[in-house]
Amino acid sequence: MALPNPAIADGMVVTIHYTLTDDSGTVIDSSQGADPLEYLHGHGNIVIGLERELTAKKVGDALKVAVAPKDGYGEHNPLGRGKVPRDSFPKDMELEVGMQFSGEGDKDEPHVVWIAEIAPDHVVIDQNHPLAGKTLHFDVKVDSVRPATKEELEHGHAHGAHGHDHEHGHHH
Ligand code: ZN
Repeated sequence: MALPNPAIADGMVVTIHYTLTDDSGTVIDSSQGADPLEYLHGHGNIVIGLERELTAKKVGDALKVAVAPKDGYGEHNPLGRGKVPRDSFPKDMELEVGMQFSGEGDKDEPHVVWIAEIAPDHVVIDQNHPLAGKTLHFDVKVDSVRPATKEELEHGHAHGAHGHDHEHGHHH
């Protein structure tokens, strides 16, 4: 029999409502007015500093967490920026600031870059996550907690109310 109000632990699927603000109080991201964010606890699906603080919390618990860059999206590396010619992207591809690409790194490790600026002849790409170097202020309320299914544990992520859907596999 399932516990009436299980605590968050590794292998639990958790949904949270959250608002993320920066140091100045500007809202960066929020689940208000949308479905809560669903994730599999203990698998690094969300930033580590927030995941750690959610451990042992229960439905209805609310918490405010300030996550330092090292436990969030990493320190900002000033050498992470570089210019590439506009024609290194397909001509018909609509480029937008903030778009994310994954390519292969030096050692065949997949690595992700973001478009930071677009000029007529070149594009500035940045290996830093847009939130690198920032302290993340999360205001979180636990919405639901349930044990993960075997399939979710095998995949290392939650599958949610829409069945097997990898669309939600892109984590912020
Ligand atoms: Zn899956």
